[in-house]
Amino acid sequence: MEDCIFCKIAKGEIPSSKVYEDEDILAFKDINPVTPVHILVIPKKHIESLNNVEPEDEKLLGKIILTIKNIAKEQEISEKGYRVVNNCGEDGGQEVKHLHFHILGGKKLGTKIV
Ligand code: 5GP
Ligand code: ZN
Repeated sequence: MEDCIFCKIAKGEIPSSKVYEDEDILAFKDINPVTPVHILVIPKKHIESLNNVEPEDEKLLGKIILTIKNIAKEQEISEKGYRVVNNCGEDGGQEVKHLHFHILGGKKLGTKIV
């Protein structure tokens, strides 16, 4: 989608520090990391938010979850653990309107989500 920063990153029009890529998914380092490991996993297809996921996206979403698992292993945070976050919409604090999952790890996180 035009004017979507993550679509531009997915197309390589804006550079990113890529961690994983295939035909459907891209994972890259967050530009403003809040934990030692902070990676964003996105579908290359523009989906605005979790609210806009359709039944046809079922396989894609399953693939994203498996990709998150594999990246966590590669980043050596699997054993100690990590957090996966999706911010959805206004109250969820979503800033970039292209579906993305944050992988947060490399330090002990608080037990409270909010
Ligand atoms: P949100 O608040 O929408 O869940 O998260 C958006 C995330 O995207 C933020 O953590 C922010 O640092 C990250 N971000 C925004 N613009 C860019 C960018 O151009 N490159 C990268 N690598 N991350 C970005
Ligand atoms: Zn997009």
